Amino acid sequence: MAGGQPRDRPGPMPLEPNPIVARLRAYDPGHDLPSLRLRHGPALAELGSNENPYGPSPRVLQALRTLAAEEVYRYPDPQGLGLRRALAAQLGVEPVEICLGNGSHELLMLLAQCFAAPGDEVVHSEFGFAVFAIATAAVGATPRIVPALPTGHPQRRGHDLAAIAAAVGPRTRLVYLANPNNPTGTWFDRAELEACLRAIPANVPVVVDEAYHEYVTEPAIGSALALRARHPNLVVTRTFSKGHGLAGLRVGYAIADAAVVAILNRLRESFNVGGPSLLAATVALDDPGHVATTRDGTRAMREQLARELQSLPLQVTPSQTNFLLLDFGRDAAPVERGLYERGVVVRPMGGYGLPQCLRVNLGREDENARFLAALREVLA
Ligand SMILES: *Cc1c(COP(=O)(O)O)cnc(C)c1O
Repeated sequence: MAGGQPRDRPGPMPLEPNPIVARLRAYDPGHDLPSLRLRHGPALAELGSNENPYGPSPRVLQALRTLAAEEVYRYPDPQGLGLRRALAAQLGVEPVEICLGNGSHELLMLLAQCFAAPGDEVVHSEFGFAVFAIATAAVGATPRIVPALPTGHPQRRGHDLAAIAAAVGPRTRLVYLANPNNPTGTWFDRAELEACLRAIPANVPVVVDEAYHEYVTEPAIGSALALRARHPNLVVTRTFSKGHGLAGLRVGYAIADAAVVAILNRLRESFNVGGPSLLAATVALDDPGHVATTRDGTRAMREQLARELQSLPLQVTPSQTNFLLLDFGRDAAPVERGLYERGVVVRPMGGYGLPQCLRVNLGREDENARFLAALREVLA
């Protein structure tokens, strides 16, 4: 009962959400980070949220330091036209093919709100990004969760694109894919995506979440953007939170057919991206060197950490992202607790149905070293 009020005490009628919301749960941050920061100070290693330890481009911080008052007291441009034009020029698309979001999370939610309703089906992979399931539940649609690739497959736990295409039926209104995927770090090639798209009816939007696109170095992955010409039902989402290091400012974008963007705009909150965030993202786009530094540095750290983990009793899933999924082959909760007690925050995976796994992102050098030392202690 809400608020823990005893039933016999006269009080206001309990307020009940609608039946769809009644089945949802609030986001669980997992840890009380503010109090952990107080306890451990700068020694705390925060490796649980896939943030970018390189931070934003120095030009972004400079632009934010010299913000004009207008950019704070005026409402932001509800069209975000400056940023959409800059993105369009960089991506070779039209501004009408871009929808901005308060993080790409908002856009993933909006896509379900706009295209799926109770009784409809939404298809995504087992171990797919958590927001896919939340967005589906939030609109009361029925999830069709396709089993992930099995043990023994090089992309174990990754998306099985052939099975995903086969799961699309007459009631399917939306398909969510992530490439690379979080929390697995797995990926699929453009050729596989192309075959999948050919098998899916053109009236079903297929969302490819490319939140980690800036980290990808494997040439066969490419981007789904190149397939849009032949598949107007393709929607690509990206974010400034990861490779650009702007997670705190909440800017994401979708690239889609202008008709899809027009539909999203019907429901999109008018001022969903703040002025300072629009400015920061526009400046960040102008510093590809910083993104390259992030990508190359992260890759080097990822490969080094994976090598160092080889001697420990765990399996590392190959990754094209700024994080690694570690499989301990047994309940990982005691490992997570041990790390936590040593001031290292990682992400438990029980919520994904992977209680034997932990997800750790590449942080600053000192954070990575602290993680490795703590993990060796815990596993000893
Ligand atoms: C982090 C992440 C996002 C969303 O990030 P935003 O900060 O909301 O842009 C989307 N998809 C995946 C797979 C992610 O890991």
